[in-house]
Amino acid sequence: MTTSYRADARPYPDDAPASQALFDRARAIVPGGVNSPVRAFRAVGGMPRFMERGQGPWLFDADGRRYVDLVCSWGPLIHGHAHPEIVGAVQAAAAHGTSFGTPTAGEVALAEEIVRRTPVEQVRLVNSGTEATMTAIRLARGYTGKSKIIKFAGCYHGHVDALLAAAGSGVATLGLPDSPGVTGAAAGETIVLPYNDEAAVEAAFAAGGAEIAAVITEAAPGNMGVVAPRKGFNQRLAELAHAHGALLVVDEVMTGFRVSRGGWAALDPVDADLFTYGKVMGGGLPAAAFGGRAEIMSRLAPAGPVYQAGTLSGNPLACAAGLASLRLADDATYRRLDALADTVGRLAAEALTAAGVPHRLSYAGNMFSVFFTPAEVTDYETAKTQDAVAFRAFFHALLARGVYLPPSAFESWFVSTALDDEALEQIATALPPAAQAAAAAGGGA
Ligand SMILES: *Cc1c(COP(=O)(O)O)cnc(C)c1O
Repeated sequence: MTTSYRADARPYPDDAPASQALFDRARAIVPGGVNSPVRAFRAVGGMPRFMERGQGPWLFDADGRRYVDLVCSWGPLIHGHAHPEIVGAVQAAAAHGTSFGTPTAGEVALAEEIVRRTPVEQVRLVNSGTEATMTAIRLARGYTGKSKIIKFAGCYHGHVDALLAAAGSGVATLGLPDSPGVTGAAAGETIVLPYNDEAAVEAAFAAGGAEIAAVITEAAPGNMGVVAPRKGFNQRLAELAHAHGALLVVDEVMTGFRVSRGGWAALDPVDADLFTYGKVMGGGLPAAAFGGRAEIMSRLAPAGPVYQAGTLSGNPLACAAGLASLRLADDATYRRLDALADTVGRLAAEALTAAGVPHRLSYAGNMFSVFFTPAEVTDYETAKTQDAVAFRAFFHALLARGVYLPPSAFESWFVSTALDDEALEQIATALPPAAQAAAAAGGGA
């Protein structure tokens, strides 16, 4: 049963007066009361909780309630909240000054760590994933001298004009049409294809390959819910792109350093030309990057003519947090993240099965999500067959029992190594009644 999300979904009764008071103040002066749409509870109804602090696996809201965090700042916090080594690294960096507008040793160390772990030869640090993909596209166009871009429906690459068409994440959550404010000129250079559909990519190259500068894809999509690439799909994209003089840009902003030491590319090697990173590499501070072969990266200013810059790029605090976070992330970390993702996903599936709620558990490494549909999900169209009403009831029943899920059925759930027995117990206790609530609400009612 297909049910689309409504932006005006009926609010659930909320009893969180401190969050309510903050939200009222925020709404008066910030559009929608939030600084990023995915934080609003538009798709699930009700009011976002304002968080005051995090510790290990826990979030504490302004009303003093405690939640097990399965969002982890939308991916970055693989070590949980306020890890002492990351906090210490940021404090030490801050004591030496917050920004210099000059090169610093921390940037070199973070870039070296990224190059050690990934296929890239050279890397440029930026502040957000959006900047990374925006510049990767500019570089691909500058390098190839061509203009068109292929992207996939349901993939999200930040709020870059040319990449907002049929985008995932908040655009999918809110059921928004392509964004006003994006000009026809920007959108007209973007070819949107169904995900996991090799034949569609072949056809697009056959029809207009001479004009295509790049294919951009999420390494393993997590922004329409988690939809793993079919075996060999990413490498096939590389072959098709290269056969037509185009580049492949693999967006690892979500997967990078989360699913393995080297990101998705270490699990599923691909001859991509450019990679983008973000989230985990900033350790919870704003840092992102893009990189690739030296021959391509050397076209960037000041080595080459393709311009890119940033006042706070490679910020010392962000580099210190990112480096501390990556240095903590060894093989044992990824074994633990994988095991925890397996445990939490299994608990969710067991509860939903027992309650008779149709669902699909979908993994890409330790990223996973539960689709509230009986259909196999391989792309954005099938992801949209979800029962939104059932998800909404499930989400709120978990929230009321102290489990914080992404407030959207189109997002990955994220685990951290900080999930301990107490946190897992709280999840295990909350899931059966949440599944019952989903069963009572669902069926597209
Ligand atoms: C989060 C995300 C982005 C955008 O990163 P921001 O730091 O939010 O700009 C880009 N690509 C993917 C795959 C992401 O998950």
